[in-house]
Amino acid sequence: MSVLLPVEEALAQVLASARPVQDTVKLPLLDAPGHVLAQDVVSPIDVPGDDNSAMDGYALRASEAGQTLPVSQRIPAGVVGSALAPGTAARIFTGAPLPPGADAVVMQENCTERDGMVSVAGSVSVGQNIRPRGQDIAGGATVLQRGRILRPQDIGLLASIGHGTVSVYRPLRVAVLSTGDELVEPGSGELHSGQLYNSNRYTLASLLRGLNLEFIDGGIVADDADITARALRDAASRADCVITSGGVSVGDEDHVKNQVERLGRLDLWKLAIKPGKPLAFGHIGDTPFIGLPGNPTSVFVTFCLIARPFLLKLQGLDEPESPRLQARAAFNVDKPGSRQDYMRVTLVNTSGGLQATGFSNQSSGVLSSVSYSNAFAVIPPGTTVSEGDLVEVIPLDSLAR
Ligand code: AMP
Ligand code: MG
Repeated sequence: MSVLLPVEEALAQVLASARPVQDTVKLPLLDAPGHVLAQDVVSPIDVPGDDNSAMDGYALRASEAGQTLPVSQRIPAGVVGSALAPGTAARIFTGAPLPPGADAVVMQENCTERDGMVSVAGSVSVGQNIRPRGQDIAGGATVLQRGRILRPQDIGLLASIGHGTVSVYRPLRVAVLSTGDELVEPGSGELHSGQLYNSNRYTLASLLRGLNLEFIDGGIVADDADITARALRDAASRADCVITSGGVSVGDEDHVKNQVERLGRLDLWKLAIKPGKPLAFGHIGDTPFIGLPGNPTSVFVTFCLIARPFLLKLQGLDEPESPRLQARAAFNVDKPGSRQDYMRVTLVNTSGGLQATGFSNQSSGVLSSVSYSNAFAVIPPGTTVSEGDLVEVIPLDSLAR
């Protein structure tokens, strides 16, 4: 029996070989969510730009709050008031710059204004209800660092410092080839016996889209050595990475591995992962190649665990993340396995913390196990699990959207 490579070792090896894309593109801010930031961004301004009011109310000197004060001016947001004369208060609204001289804002609910005079209930302290200049961002500070995926809140942050465009890495081009004579495209007609619809192409295209990567459709590739070689070579010439599904096992009809070896090199093959053992990684010329297994659940698992972090690194992401949580198992694993098992489970919140329930059928061909679950429970090789044990879980939402 050949030795299976542990998942962590395989991942480290694959990541070490990644040569991140260098080309950048400038995108309008609204087109940038989901892309990877290609430069450190330094703020040219303080945000907010002035000390300003956090409330609708009255600006005054805290030391004069015990007196009834004439209201000397009105300062709505967007208007700059004049210096506050001693012994007066200014009507002020949320976001309006504080007039020079004032050192506190009292919310209007605590004030009474009559005949142009305002009096304040309760004590007032210096700085109260004032948002100081630069409290969010200081001018000259690095607000976002290169190598992160731009999330909606980051886009807002860039807008708040006045950026209309942002420099990101150009989207990676990823070619997807679905191997198998038995495959039929959904929507193209009914199946004959022995055929099945090509689901992997759709899972993979959607996973790539979720990562903002460009999907290059290599279509269905017949189980034939020459056709496979041609398809691989063509895909490698058009893409930054080639991903195949199926055809990486040991059967006579599995041509992918042999043809990659002919066109380039195979760096690793066969992982101690369940599902997904036959995963292959290599290069076609200089283009990295990931050979995913054929079984739809294996495709999903190996993409999430191996291909995803690799592609994100290629795309310029600094540290591909994958949050791990702990949950109590609501299942048993009686027999220790030889591979790291990524069980499909449903996480629910209970009074005793997170609880993970295993999907009833964990077979690698059962894609519904992924659709009907919301997490992987990671069961390391050689491990048994009893109900109530803590197991490591990875929420699927953090892997696929
Ligand atoms: P293979 O590794 O090529 O022998 O494929 C393993 C299993 O996955 C077989 O049952 C295939 O029919 C199935 N399979 C392969 N490719 C796909 C695909 N694109 N969509 C759905 N199932 C597939
Ligand atoms: Mg096949």
